[in-house]
Amino acid sequence: MKLKFYFLFFILSFSSFGQVKMDSLKAPIMTSKFALALHGGAGNMVKRKFTPSEEEAYKKVMDEALVLGYSMLEKGATATDVVEAVIKVMEDSPLFNAGKGAVFSNEGMNEMDAAIMNGKDLKCGAVTNLRKVKNPISLAKEIMNNSQFVFLNGEGAEKFAKLQGIEIVDTSYFFVQKRWNEMLKIRDSSKTQLDNEGSSGAIDDLDSINKFGTVGCVVLDGYGNIAAGTSTGGITNKKFNRIGDSPLIGSGTYANNESCAVSCTGHGEDFIRLVAAHQVHSYMFFKHKNVEKAAEIVIKKELTGIGGRGGLIAIDRQGRITFQFNTTGMFRGSIDTKGEKFVAIY
Ligand code: ASP
Repeated sequence: MKLKFYFLFFILSFSSFGQVKMDSLKAPIMTSKFALALHGGAGNMVKRKFTPSEEEAYKKVMDEALVLGYSMLEKGATATDVVEAVIKVMEDSPLFNAGKGAVFSNEGMNEMDAAIMNGKDLKCGAVTNLRKVKNPISLAKEIMNNSQFVFLNGEGAEKFAKLQGIEIVDTSYFFVQKRWNEMLKIRDSSKTQLDNEGSSGAIDDLDSINKFGTVGCVVLDGYGNIAAGTSTGGITNKKFNRIGDSPLIGSGTYANNESCAVSCTGHGEDFIRLVAAHQVHSYMFFKHKNVEKAAEIVIKKELTGIGGRGGLIAIDRQGRITFQFNTTGMFRGSIDTKGEKFVAIY
Protein backbone atom coordinates (compact mmCIF):
# COMPACT_ATOMS: atom_id res chain seq x y z
CA MET A 1 0.00 0.00 0.00
CA LYS A 2 2.75 2.39 1.11
CA LEU A 3 4.77 1.47 -1.96
CA LYS A 4 1.78 2.24 -4.23
CA PHE A 5 1.45 5.70 -2.65
CA TYR A 6 5.10 6.55 -3.27
CA PHE A 7 4.79 5.31 -6.85
CA LEU A 8 1.75 7.57 -7.48
CA PHE A 9 3.56 10.55 -5.95
CA PHE A 10 6.58 9.90 -8.16
CA ILE A 11 4.43 9.75 -11.33
CA LEU A 12 2.50 12.93 -10.46
CA SER A 13 5.66 14.92 -9.81
CA PHE A 14 6.88 14.24 -13.31
CA SER A 15 3.53 14.43 -15.10
CA SER A 16 2.18 17.60 -16.72
CA PHE A 17 -0.23 17.89 -13.78
CA GLY A 18 2.73 18.02 -11.42
CA GLN A 19 4.45 20.51 -13.71
CA VAL A 20 1.49 22.94 -13.77
CA LYS A 21 1.25 22.80 -10.00
CA MET A 22 4.97 23.44 -9.63
CA ASP A 23 4.86 26.43 -12.00
CA SER A 24 1.89 28.02 -10.27
CA LEU A 25 3.83 27.95 -7.02
CA LYS A 26 6.72 29.89 -8.56
CA ALA A 27 6.13 33.60 -8.06
CA PRO A 28 7.66 35.58 -10.93
CA ILE A 29 10.82 37.25 -9.72
CA MET A 30 10.59 41.01 -10.00
CA THR A 31 13.53 43.37 -9.84
CA SER A 32 13.48 47.12 -9.31
CA LYS A 33 15.10 47.63 -12.71
CA PHE A 34 12.49 48.77 -15.18
CA ALA A 35 12.23 51.63 -17.64
CA LEU A 36 10.28 52.87 -20.61
CA ALA A 37 10.52 55.28 -23.52
CA LEU A 38 8.02 56.65 -26.00
CA HIS A 39 7.90 58.70 -29.17
CA GLY A 40 5.17 60.74 -30.79
CA GLY A 41 6.69 60.99 -34.27
CA ALA A 42 9.72 62.59 -35.88
CA GLY A 43 9.78 65.40 -38.40
CA ASN A 44 11.18 68.74 -39.28
CA MET A 45 9.85 70.46 -36.22
CA VAL A 46 11.18 73.88 -35.46
CA LYS A 47 10.45 75.83 -32.35
CA ARG A 48 8.89 78.77 -34.15
CA LYS A 49 6.14 76.48 -35.52
CA PHE A 50 4.79 75.79 -32.02
CA THR A 51 3.21 78.19 -29.58
CA PRO A 52 4.23 77.63 -25.93
CA SER A 53 0.77 76.25 -25.20
CA GLU A 54 1.00 73.81 -28.13
CA GLU A 55 4.37 72.58 -26.85
CA GLU A 56 2.90 72.25 -23.41
CA ALA A 57 -0.05 70.22 -24.72
CA TYR A 58 2.23 67.68 -26.45
CA LYS A 59 4.46 67.40 -23.40
CA LYS A 60 1.47 66.92 -21.11
CA VAL A 61 0.18 63.89 -23.03
CA MET A 62 3.66 62.34 -23.18
CA ASP A 63 4.10 62.98 -19.46
CA GLU A 64 0.75 61.39 -18.64
CA ALA A 65 1.58 58.31 -20.74
CA LEU A 66 5.01 57.92 -19.11
CA VAL A 67 3.70 58.29 -15.57
CA LEU A 68 0.95 55.73 -16.23
CA GLY A 69 3.43 53.27 -17.74
CA TYR A 70 5.91 53.69 -14.90
CA SER A 71 3.28 53.24 -12.19
CA MET A 72 2.16 50.03 -13.91
CA LEU A 73 5.75 48.78 -13.95
CA GLU A 74 6.09 49.57 -10.24
CA LYS A 75 3.04 47.40 -9.60
CA GLY A 76 4.52 44.51 -11.58
CA ALA A 77 2.85 44.90 -14.98
CA THR A 78 4.40 43.09 -17.94
CA ALA A 79 6.16 44.92 -20.77
CA THR A 80 3.43 44.28 -23.36
CA ASP A 81 0.66 45.49 -21.01
CA VAL A 82 2.62 48.70 -20.45
CA VAL A 83 3.30 49.20 -24.17
CA GLU A 84 -0.44 48.93 -24.84
CA ALA A 85 -1.44 51.30 -22.01
CA VAL A 86 1.12 53.96 -22.96
CA ILE A 87 0.20 53.87 -26.63
CA LYS A 88 -3.53 54.03 -25.81
CA VAL A 89 -3.02 57.36 -24.02
CA MET A 90 -1.44 58.77 -27.17
CA GLU A 91 -3.99 57.16 -29.51
CA ASP A 92 -6.77 58.80 -27.49
CA SER A 93 -5.20 62.23 -27.93
CA PRO A 94 -6.07 64.17 -31.12
CA LEU A 95 -2.53 65.60 -31.12
CA PHE A 96 -0.82 62.48 -32.44
CA ASN A 97 -1.14 60.68 -35.75
CA ALA A 98 -2.62 57.48 -34.26
CA GLY A 99 -6.13 56.53 -33.19
CA LYS A 100 -8.04 59.81 -32.80
CA GLY A 101 -5.85 62.27 -34.69
CA ALA A 102 -4.87 59.81 -37.45
CA VAL A 103 -4.12 61.53 -40.76
CA PHE A 104 -6.45 61.28 -43.76
CA SER A 105 -5.85 59.31 -46.93
CA ASN A 106 -6.37 60.73 -50.43
CA GLU A 107 -9.89 59.22 -50.32
CA GLY A 108 -10.61 61.13 -47.11
CA MET A 109 -10.43 58.09 -44.84
CA ASN A 110 -8.49 57.26 -41.69
CA GLU A 111 -6.61 54.00 -42.23
CA MET A 112 -4.73 52.96 -39.14
CA ASP A 113 -1.86 50.52 -38.59
CA ALA A 114 -0.31 49.12 -35.40
CA ALA A 115 2.01 46.38 -34.14
CA ILE A 116 3.26 45.00 -30.85
CA MET A 117 6.03 42.51 -30.09
CA ASN A 118 7.13 40.66 -26.98
CA GLY A 119 10.91 40.20 -26.71
CA LYS A 120 10.50 37.30 -24.30
CA ASP A 121 9.05 34.81 -26.79
CA LEU A 122 8.97 36.76 -30.09
CA LYS A 123 5.18 36.68 -30.06
CA CYS A 124 3.71 39.56 -32.01
CA GLY A 125 0.50 40.96 -33.46
CA ALA A 126 -0.12 43.52 -36.18
CA VAL A 127 -3.00 45.26 -37.96
CA THR A 128 -3.34 47.44 -41.01
CA ASN A 129 -6.00 49.54 -42.71
CA LEU A 130 -8.32 49.74 -39.71
CA ARG A 131 -11.14 52.26 -39.99
CA LYS A 132 -13.26 51.64 -36.92
CA VAL A 133 -11.14 50.21 -34.11
CA LYS A 134 -10.78 52.84 -31.38
CA ASN A 135 -7.39 51.60 -30.21
CA PRO A 136 -5.46 49.77 -32.95
CA ILE A 137 -2.71 48.78 -30.48
CA SER A 138 -5.24 46.84 -28.38
CA LEU A 139 -6.31 44.84 -31.42
CA ALA A 140 -2.67 44.13 -32.27
CA LYS A 141 -2.19 42.84 -28.71
CA GLU A 142 -5.34 40.73 -28.92
CA ILE A 143 -4.04 39.13 -32.13
CA MET A 144 -0.71 38.43 -30.44
CA ASN A 145 -2.32 36.84 -27.40
CA ASN A 146 -5.49 35.22 -28.71
CA SER A 147 -5.18 34.27 -32.34
CA GLN A 148 -3.23 31.82 -34.45
CA PHE A 149 -2.18 34.67 -36.77
CA VAL A 150 0.26 37.56 -36.62
CA PHE A 151 -1.02 40.14 -39.13
CA LEU A 152 -4.65 41.02 -39.96
CA ASN A 153 -5.96 43.53 -42.49
CA GLY A 154 -8.97 45.84 -42.84
CA GLU A 155 -12.45 44.36 -42.64
CA GLY A 156 -11.19 40.94 -41.58
CA ALA A 157 -9.26 42.48 -38.73
CA GLU A 158 -12.34 44.42 -37.66
CA LYS A 159 -14.45 41.25 -37.77
CA PHE A 160 -11.94 39.64 -35.41
CA ALA A 161 -12.03 42.75 -33.20
CA LYS A 162 -15.82 42.48 -32.85
CA LEU A 163 -15.63 38.78 -32.00
CA GLN A 164 -13.06 39.50 -29.29
CA GLY A 165 -14.98 42.43 -27.78
CA ILE A 166 -12.46 45.10 -28.82
CA GLU A 167 -14.03 48.57 -28.89
CA ILE A 168 -15.40 49.62 -32.28
CA VAL A 169 -16.42 53.23 -32.99
CA ASP A 170 -18.05 55.10 -35.85
CA THR A 171 -15.56 56.46 -38.39
CA SER A 172 -16.63 59.99 -37.37
CA TYR A 173 -14.85 59.45 -34.01
CA PHE A 174 -11.52 59.88 -35.81
CA PHE A 175 -12.38 63.19 -37.49
CA VAL A 176 -10.03 66.02 -36.49
CA GLN A 177 -10.44 69.24 -38.48
CA LYS A 178 -6.73 70.08 -38.46
CA ARG A 179 -5.87 66.69 -39.99
CA TRP A 180 -8.61 67.12 -42.63
CA ASN A 181 -7.25 70.53 -43.59
CA GLU A 182 -3.71 69.14 -43.85
CA MET A 183 -4.90 66.46 -46.27
CA LEU A 184 -6.86 68.97 -48.40
CA LYS A 185 -3.87 71.25 -48.57
CA ILE A 186 -1.72 68.48 -50.02
CA ARG A 187 -4.42 66.90 -52.19
CA ASP A 188 -5.38 70.18 -53.79
CA SER A 189 -1.84 71.04 -54.67
CA SER A 190 -0.84 68.87 -57.64
CA LYS A 191 2.76 69.84 -56.98
CA THR A 192 2.85 68.09 -53.65
CA GLN A 193 0.61 65.14 -54.32
CA LEU A 194 2.11 61.70 -53.78
CA ASP A 195 2.22 59.85 -57.06
CA ASN A 196 2.21 56.10 -57.56
CA GLU A 197 5.88 55.70 -56.73
CA GLY A 198 5.78 58.21 -53.90
CA SER A 199 8.12 61.15 -54.00
CA SER A 200 10.58 62.47 -51.51
CA GLY A 201 9.61 65.98 -52.58
CA ALA A 202 6.14 65.32 -51.29
CA ILE A 203 7.55 64.33 -47.93
CA ASP A 204 9.26 67.69 -47.57
CA ASP A 205 5.95 69.37 -48.18
CA LEU A 206 4.25 67.07 -45.73
CA ASP A 207 6.80 67.98 -43.10
CA SER A 208 6.21 71.64 -43.70
CA ILE A 209 2.64 71.23 -42.54
CA ASN A 210 3.42 69.09 -39.49
CA LYS A 211 2.31 65.68 -40.65
CA PHE A 212 4.27 63.77 -38.00
CA GLY A 213 2.81 62.14 -34.93
CA THR A 214 3.09 58.35 -35.18
CA VAL A 215 3.39 56.96 -31.66
CA GLY A 216 5.55 54.20 -30.21
CA CYS A 217 6.72 52.75 -26.92
CA VAL A 218 9.51 50.44 -25.72
CA VAL A 219 9.60 48.92 -22.25
CA LEU A 220 11.84 46.89 -19.94
CA ASP A 221 9.67 45.32 -17.24
CA GLY A 222 10.60 44.16 -13.76
CA TYR A 223 10.95 40.54 -14.95
CA GLY A 224 13.75 41.43 -17.36
CA ASN A 225 11.62 41.28 -20.49
CA ILE A 226 11.41 43.93 -23.20
CA ALA A 227 8.62 44.79 -25.65
CA ALA A 228 7.86 47.33 -28.39
CA GLY A 229 4.76 48.76 -30.02
CA THR A 230 3.92 51.32 -32.71
CA SER A 231 0.63 52.87 -33.85
CA THR A 232 -0.02 55.24 -36.75
CA GLY A 233 -2.43 56.74 -39.23
CA GLY A 234 0.36 56.49 -41.82
CA ILE A 235 1.14 59.35 -44.19
CA THR A 236 -1.21 62.19 -45.13
CA ASN A 237 -2.80 61.82 -48.56
CA LYS A 238 -1.69 58.19 -48.93
CA LYS A 239 -3.39 56.15 -51.67
CA PHE A 240 -4.28 52.61 -52.71
CA ASN A 241 -4.37 51.25 -49.14
CA ARG A 242 -0.67 52.05 -48.76
CA ILE A 243 0.89 50.37 -45.72
CA GLY A 244 3.92 51.87 -43.99
CA ASP A 245 6.61 50.36 -41.78
CA SER A 246 4.83 50.68 -38.43
CA PRO A 247 2.82 47.42 -38.55
CA LEU A 248 5.57 45.47 -40.32
CA ILE A 249 7.40 43.36 -37.77
CA GLY A 250 11.11 44.00 -38.29
CA SER A 251 10.67 47.27 -40.18
CA GLY A 252 8.89 49.68 -37.82
CA THR A 253 8.55 47.48 -34.75
CA TYR A 254 10.73 44.74 -33.26
CA ALA A 255 11.59 43.24 -29.86
CA ASN A 256 13.90 40.44 -28.87
CA ASN A 257 15.23 39.74 -25.36
CA GLU A 258 18.55 38.82 -27.01
CA SER A 259 19.12 42.44 -27.99
CA CYS A 260 16.60 45.28 -27.83
CA ALA A 261 13.07 46.57 -28.39
CA VAL A 262 12.61 49.18 -31.14
CA SER A 263 9.86 51.47 -32.46
CA CYS A 264 10.48 53.60 -35.56
CA THR A 265 8.88 56.70 -37.04
CA GLY A 266 9.39 58.60 -40.25
CA HIS A 267 8.99 58.02 -43.98
CA GLY A 268 7.90 54.37 -43.78
CA GLU A 269 9.02 53.31 -47.23
CA ASP A 270 12.67 53.83 -46.29
CA PHE A 271 12.31 51.98 -42.98
CA ILE A 272 10.82 49.06 -44.91
CA ARG A 273 13.75 49.09 -47.36
CA LEU A 274 16.20 48.87 -44.46
CA VAL A 275 14.14 46.50 -42.29
CA ALA A 276 15.25 49.14 -39.83
CA ALA A 277 14.02 47.87 -36.44
CA HIS A 278 15.45 44.40 -37.01
CA GLN A 279 18.63 45.97 -38.32
CA VAL A 280 19.21 47.52 -34.87
CA HIS A 281 18.81 44.01 -33.41
CA SER A 282 21.29 42.64 -35.98
CA TYR A 283 24.00 45.18 -35.14
CA MET A 284 23.67 44.21 -31.48
CA PHE A 285 23.28 40.46 -31.94
CA PHE A 286 25.82 39.81 -34.69
CA LYS A 287 28.18 42.77 -34.41
CA HIS A 288 28.03 43.17 -30.63
CA LYS A 289 27.28 46.90 -30.81
CA ASN A 290 25.55 48.49 -27.82
CA VAL A 291 21.99 49.70 -28.27
CA GLU A 292 22.96 53.32 -28.77
CA LYS A 293 25.62 52.60 -31.39
CA ALA A 294 23.39 50.10 -33.24
CA ALA A 295 20.50 52.57 -33.44
CA GLU A 296 22.84 55.39 -34.43
CA ILE A 297 24.26 53.40 -37.36
CA VAL A 298 20.78 52.56 -38.63
CA ILE A 299 19.48 56.14 -38.49
CA LYS A 300 22.53 58.32 -39.06
CA LYS A 301 24.31 56.11 -41.59
CA GLU A 302 21.84 53.78 -43.25
CA LEU A 303 18.63 55.84 -43.26
CA THR A 304 20.47 59.04 -44.09
CA GLY A 305 22.44 57.13 -46.72
CA ILE A 306 19.33 56.28 -48.72
CA GLY A 307 17.86 59.76 -48.28
CA GLY A 308 15.33 58.64 -45.68
CA ARG A 309 14.14 60.72 -42.75
CA GLY A 310 12.87 59.85 -39.30
CA GLY A 311 13.94 58.32 -36.04
CA LEU A 312 13.57 55.51 -33.57
CA ILE A 313 13.54 54.69 -29.88
CA ALA A 314 15.18 51.58 -28.47
CA ILE A 315 15.79 49.93 -25.11
CA ASP A 316 17.94 46.97 -24.08
CA ARG A 317 17.60 44.49 -21.20
CA GLN A 318 19.72 46.67 -18.92
CA GLY A 319 17.22 49.47 -19.45
CA ARG A 320 19.57 51.57 -21.57
CA ILE A 321 17.49 53.87 -23.74
CA THR A 322 18.43 55.60 -26.96
CA PHE A 323 16.64 58.20 -29.11
CA GLN A 324 18.00 58.59 -32.62
CA PHE A 325 16.67 60.85 -35.39
CA ASN A 326 17.96 62.68 -38.44
CA THR A 327 15.12 65.21 -38.47
CA THR A 328 15.14 68.45 -36.48
CA GLY A 329 12.86 66.98 -33.88
CA MET A 330 11.08 63.97 -32.44
CA PHE A 331 8.40 64.02 -29.78
CA ARG A 332 9.99 61.77 -27.18
CA GLY A 333 10.22 60.89 -23.53
CA SER A 334 11.39 58.31 -21.04
CA ILE A 335 11.59 57.27 -17.42
CA ASP A 336 14.88 55.46 -16.87
CA THR A 337 15.90 52.75 -14.40
CA LYS A 338 16.67 55.44 -11.80
CA GLY A 339 13.14 56.81 -12.13
CA GLU A 340 14.34 59.96 -13.90
CA LYS A 341 11.87 61.47 -16.34
CA PHE A 342 12.76 63.15 -19.62
CA VAL A 343 10.45 64.75 -22.21
CA ALA A 344 11.58 66.69 -25.31
CA ILE A 345 10.56 67.78 -28.80
CA TYR A 346 13.58 69.31 -30.59
N1 ASP B 1 6.26 55.57 -40.34
C1 ASP B 1 4.90 55.95 -40.56
C2 ASP B 1 4.46 55.45 -41.91
O1 ASP B 1 5.23 55.56 -42.84
C3 ASP B 1 4.65 57.42 -40.50
C4 ASP B 1 5.39 58.18 -39.43
O2 ASP B 1 6.06 57.59 -38.59
O3 ASP B 1 5.29 59.43 -39.43
O4 ASP B 1 3.33 55.02 -42.04
